[in-house]
Amino acid sequence: MTTSRAHDLWASVRGNEHVLRAIEVSLVADHSIMFIAPPGYGKSLFRAIMTGSSGARHTELTPCLCGYYQDLTQVCTCVPQQIGHWQAKLRKIAPAFDITAYPSRPKFEELFDTRREAFTTMWERVVVARDRHIPKGIEDGSSVGLLKAAYTKLNLSPGAAMRILRVSHSIACLDSACSQIGAAHIAEAIQYRYRDDY
Ligand SMILES: [Zn+2]
Repeated sequence: MTTSRAHDLWASVRGNEHVLRAIEVSLVADHSIMFIAPPGYGKSLFRAIMTGSSGARHTELTPCLCGYYQDLTQVCTCVPQQIGHWQAKLRKIAPAFDITAYPSRPKFEELFDTRREAFTTMWERVVVARDRHIPKGIEDGSSVGLLKAAYTKLNLSPGAAMRILRVSHSIACLDSACSQIGAAHIAEAIQYRYRDDY
């Protein structure tokens, strides 16, 4: 069940294809989703799209206390200790969310670009994906190897690895050419983890 408001909001997004894709993945299995970005980058818009199309939990946060950590347009006024405390808070919240998405400031050309596909086209893919029954485990060697490498090199918690696996399953369900979780699906799911250094 989706609302027409969600459709309109979807059409009003500029740039941020990566966030719209994260929302699409979330909708497959009602994955909880967290949006982290400075003020004015559309976090509330993305949350409103979620409210209009899913029962999944969602929240929005800034990357630091003042909101502008690593922003290109405004200077962050936080001292390092404040940033450390804020990131500790985010790390504490992050395990409650399967997906973290980082909205970004649209490029100038993207402000006038309205060619993106309609909400209904995306939703049709989600409906098909929800009905697919593919194995929830990973079977092929390259997929196992990739998840293992991420677990080891990125120093993931066991919970973070399991979240990646769950999200990989939804991505695989969206991929009509595949009948199992593949390395590409895991690679995409890794992008949706929480990270301090985005
Ligand atoms: Zn700051």
